[in-house]
Amino acid sequence: MKASVVDGYPKGNKMKILIEDAEASHVNALRRAIMADVPKMAISKVMFTLGVNEDNNNRGEVYESVNALPDEVIAHRLAMIPIPTQPDEGMAFPEECEDCHDLAEDDKGCPRCQVLYSLNVRGPSADSDEPYRVVRAGDLTNVSDPVFDISEEMQSIPITYLAQGQFLEFIAFATLGRGRDHAKWSAASAVTFQPRYEAELKKPKKASVLFDLGLTTSDGRAIDAKLFTSKKCSDVSTVLDLEKALHQVGHGTGRDADFDEAIVLNKIDGSYVFSFETDGSLAPEAVFNMAIGELKSRFSDLGEDLDRAIA
Ligand SMILES: [Zn+2]
Repeated sequence: MKASVVDGYPKGNKMKILIEDAEASHVNALRRAIMADVPKMAISKVMFTLGVNEDNNNRGEVYESVNALPDEVIAHRLAMIPIPTQPDEGMAFPEECEDCHDLAEDDKGCPRCQVLYSLNVRGPSADSDEPYRVVRAGDLTNVSDPVFDISEEMQSIPITYLAQGQFLEFIAFATLGRGRDHAKWSAASAVTFQPRYEAELKKPKKASVLFDLGLTTSDGRAIDAKLFTSKKCSDVSTVLDLEKALHQVGHGTGRDADFDEAIVLNKIDGSYVFSFETDGSLAPEAVFNMAIGELKSRFSDLGEDLDRAIA
């Protein structure tokens, strides 16, 4: 199996990888590994402060720990916030942490296996013109290593609204986990692959039915005969764009008879285009490499088990 990043990727958190000399079942194992096995950080426990606070500085204004959303929903929303995962920081899974796995359930959790965030936000004061305040991911204060600070692009994620007289206060604990245990630990979404094709220009005259539509590729080039060299086009991104464009002249468009399969897509055996997008907790390259690592370790484990079973 050979893997290479498709030109122009990664785009932000999106990734496309060309996989060659592979079987679909192997590529699918990689897909499953990315969704279920690659570990990442997510908030998994929240301790809310409940009660009534009196503000001594501001005419004794009273704030109460109520707001528009139930605590469970807030905890769920916190779990979905991408927590920067630093594979090199040596974070341990809570159930495997050497420093605290012997402790009672309530005492578990130490700097090696969890990251702490605190939040303490009040709604607008009584004399404010603002009817409410939005609590955002950026309001979370990281009380652990600064490498786990919520990244700038995620800080605007809304968590809830607070009206006058309301406050929200909690401590949240992020831990390392795997997507197979809960979707909040899934490192990437939209993990898909498709066979790789090569486009062939068979009937240049009839292909004008497509070329005259004035379509462009995703990077802005005109879809016309210039995309083909010696009647072939094999650039991965361009072929994907052509595949989309061909829907405009396919069955049911009324153009298919004139077009008469002037351009065909030929499948390249053993070659796949693999794509996914991370939530921002991990870089897409890291996710792919970690998935390969997970598969390697699993198959070598299997190899040892087999040896033992046969011996
Ligand atoms: Zn621990």
